[in-house]
Amino acid sequence: MKKALFLDRDGVINLDYGYVHTVEAFEFVPGILDCIRRMQERGYLPIVVTNQSGIGRGYYGREDFERVTAAMLEEMRRAGIAISREQVFFCPHTPEEGCGCRKPQPGMLREAIRRFGIDPVASVMIGDKTSDIEAAEAAGVGRTLLVEKNGPIDCDKID
Ligand SMILES: [Mg+2]
Ligand SMILES: [Zn+2]
Repeated sequence: MKKALFLDRDGVINLDYGYVHTVEAFEFVPGILDCIRRMQERGYLPIVVTNQSGIGRGYYGREDFERVTAAMLEEMRRAGIAISREQVFFCPHTPEEGCGCRKPQPGMLREAIRRFGIDPVASVMIGDKTSDIEAAEAAGVGRTLLVEKNGPIDCDKID
């Protein structure tokens, strides 16, 4: 069974200025690309799980999210990370919709676990909000790391 490195996006992968939805505003958190690459070398499959309520609120569209995602993945690959669009899960809903995918609900993580045959207990979650950690715990993820929003990320803290 595979093990995953679950990653929140805003504040963990990219600097969180609130509702980042353009390539121009997408800036990587210092240390994160190196961290993901090193974890991948240790056998962890990177999986992004991100709340994107800006879509449900009408601040931006799915096409904006997809454009940013494509640019993010390209930059990750350039940094030596093997990752595809299928490894990115997002929730477009507002809190009021009461969906099962918006963190702290574990829906996105459960879907990834099912789709990729991941062993949650052997997996790690990195998030900058308690809702990230709660979602991971609800999905049975074995280890969680709550980091400071916008980093820098020190990969050596993971284990
Ligand atoms: Mg975040
Ligand atoms: Zn949702």
